[in-house]
Amino acid sequence: MSGKKERKLKIVDHRHCKVCGKAIPPGQEFCSERCRKIYEEAQRREKRMKNIFLLIYAVIFIVLFLLLASRAGIH
Ligand SMILES: [Zn+2]
Repeated sequence: MSGKKERKLKIVDHRHCKVCGKAIPPGQEFCSERCRKIYEEAQRREKRMKNIFLLIYAVIFIVLFLLLASRAGIH
């Protein structure tokens, strides 16, 4: 036993399609090209949503900061 490769216990000898849940051979993530595209599209959308969320978060933070700064500026 001199393998440096990470070996995680795998009980299952098959996987399930991430999109439709169909059983697929090990080493694959999707049952078909169509499912892969659907998944990629969903991920792209998720990434976009995360970016929008981050942007909103940043704007709120800046607005809050400006508000606090303007309040603190009044002497
Ligand atoms: Zn599928």
